[in-house]
Amino acid sequence: MTAHTRETLKALFAPKSVAVIGASTKPDSLGRVVFKNIIFSGYTGVVYPVNPKAHSILGVKAYPSVVDIPDEIDLAVIIVPAVAVASVLDECGRKGVRAAVIISAGFKEIGEEGARREAELQQIAQRYGIAMLGPNCLGIINTDPSVSLNATFAPGMPRQGNIAFISQSGALGVAALEYAQRQKIGLSKFVSIGNKADLHENHLLEYLKDDPLTDVVLLYVEDLEDPQGFHRLATEITSERPKKIPILAIKSGRTLEGAKAATSHTGALAGSDEVYDSVFMQSGVLRVETIEELFDYAVAFAQQPLPKGNRIAIVTNAGGAGILATDAAVRYGLQLASFTPETAQKLRELLPPTVNVANPVDMTGEPNEQRYDTIVRTVLADPNVDGVIVIAAPHILMSLENIARNIVRAVQETHSDKPVLACLMAVTDARPAIEILETINIPNYSFPERAARALAAMARYRDWVHRPRTEYRIFRDIQIERARELIAQAKRDGRRVLLEPEAHDLLKAYGFPMLKYRLVRTEDEGLHAAHEIGYPVVLKIVSPDIVHKFDVGGVKLNIQNDTELRESFRQMLTDVTRTKPNARIVGVFVQEFIKGGKETILGLKRDPLFGPLLMFGLGGIYVEALRDVTFRLAPVRELGIQRMIRQIRGFKILEGFRGEPPSDIDAIAECLARLSQLATQMEEIVELDINPLIVLEKGHGARVVDARIVVA
Ligand code: ADP
Ligand code: MG
Repeated sequence: MTAHTRETLKALFAPKSVAVIGASTKPDSLGRVVFKNIIFSGYTGVVYPVNPKAHSILGVKAYPSVVDIPDEIDLAVIIVPAVAVASVLDECGRKGVRAAVIISAGFKEIGEEGARREAELQQIAQRYGIAMLGPNCLGIINTDPSVSLNATFAPGMPRQGNIAFISQSGALGVAALEYAQRQKIGLSKFVSIGNKADLHENHLLEYLKDDPLTDVVLLYVEDLEDPQGFHRLATEITSERPKKIPILAIKSGRTLEGAKAATSHTGALAGSDEVYDSVFMQSGVLRVETIEELFDYAVAFAQQPLPKGNRIAIVTNAGGAGILATDAAVRYGLQLASFTPETAQKLRELLPPTVNVANPVDMTGEPNEQRYDTIVRTVLADPNVDGVIVIAAPHILMSLENIARNIVRAVQETHSDKPVLACLMAVTDARPAIEILETINIPNYSFPERAARALAAMARYRDWVHRPRTEYRIFRDIQIERARELIAQAKRDGRRVLLEPEAHDLLKAYGFPMLKYRLVRTEDEGLHAAHEIGYPVVLKIVSPDIVHKFDVGGVKLNIQNDTELRESFRQMLTDVTRTKPNARIVGVFVQEFIKGGKETILGLKRDPLFGPLLMFGLGGIYVEALRDVTFRLAPVRELGIQRMIRQIRGFKILEGFRGEPPSDIDAIAECLARLSQLATQMEEIVELDINPLIVLEKGHGARVVDARIVVA
């Protein structure tokens, strides 16, 4: 990441002077809109329009070039045609401008010629140490009253608030700004990063983490420029500093390159979006799917305290709404609190005698505005309750405003430090009631499930912040020299894929639990090996030209005796010669047969961008079809490994399902920890599949059955 000091970034976020190069007199031109926005946003610094053809713009004296401005310039906002940007930026450099926002399009996004132009900008920015945002971006907004700058072409200045928004897409940025304005959501900063030729998400996060006016960061990204750096930084921001800032992200678009050409299961699966899921998860970043969800969560985080646990109370006047909220709450990981006897007693007194006191607290359709005070008060006081959702369905005899007032009073007078989210469902306009809630920052949601989901996100984040910190497991029983020698041997022979026995030897050197195995050339040798290993055994073809042995008849399972062995041996060679006539056959792998257990897959893929990725999932021959896998950037700590295992959809199968005994999850964890160590020590290994790792019943361990290792 190009280094920029905080001072340089300050010139971007809080400039004392701005030059708008390409400011224009033409109505509706971007150059005019941006200039107008700066003036009308109430910018506290000095703004200079630059345009060689204009005398003045909107009544402000214009300069022919940035170098003609008789003042120091912190920030240049550039909106000239793409071909002219480089020379303008160079002038900025000579002028001593410290930051630049390149709004102009016509760069990397249009192809090769544009990419060349962009590279030129990069060089110029670097030469002068300019912090450059864009090109092809919407600009930057800072609502801090001491700055009050809208240097974008988006209409209108957002309200001031404590939510910062970084967007890779300009169009989506505009849509999001509009949504925020409509919903009256306040922002602290808005930054559109465009093509990220210089500044990217990490630079901005680095700045925002120390911004006293930002309490939540929203990210819209299509890709991460430096995922490893992002991981470190996001982990720090979300959980390691005195002031913890939640990060919510939408990730769309491009997946990793080269995934299609992969020769391993891990390689094939690592191209997918799951990798981003994992990086976010590993960094405490909450990933969301839609803009609506993004802001739903953002306002909850921005306005309410985090819950201390996941037990919530739901208060409602409509049973159906309560059920919707409950379903969503449970689906997203919350629990309905069980009230203390004191609370239950109080509620019985407050509710009509016919009501069965439970959670959700259903106060029935009987019109009684007062209960929104007394009942909210009561559940907030209950030590078993970590957060409250208050729902009001419209009622002809109740006023939403009065309900809002009662909720506000209850929350204020109990001095509660628990999150309260509201769902006032108006028939026509809930705005007046919502404004009453806003006086003490209670967010309102138009539907109960949205409130429940937002509260669940807060509980998840709280769990992340308070997660137990564990270490990396280090294994000292590893024969690293032996592992290196195996790789060197393959390379001497000009092979990038290790042969079956080599891969097994390497994993053995790394302390993985292996089945007994021998490499043989003849049937008689095979017989001898089977006797040494003991029946039942398995035969597998060993060939550098065969990736999936099973598919070509190259695996014969559960061989019980000498007769079967001879038969299988011949049959396998016949089958393989028929299906793969040109395959070079190195020999036959005789392996101990293992009965029962569950098939899992462990993988490693060294990605040029992400670095070493570990994969875990349900294994066997259907992995690509099931895609039930998780990824982590290696190395992974002990707890990370536990979470990784528990995260797959099929985890229930490993836990013991329909009376089956539970699997040895500790054995999987140990294998993953060994793989994590291998990933950091054996940099030459670019892909590795253990498929399957058969995991036995709890206490009986796991066994590597099949391994494939590709070196650089
Ligand atoms: P490939 O993946 O190249 O087709 P494998 O060695 O993974 O070959 O074998 C295919 C399948 O055969 C495995 O997924 C597993 O179900 C089964 N299998 C292979 N070896 C053994 C063994 N030693 N014991 C039990 N089952 C085995
Ligand atoms: Mg296999």
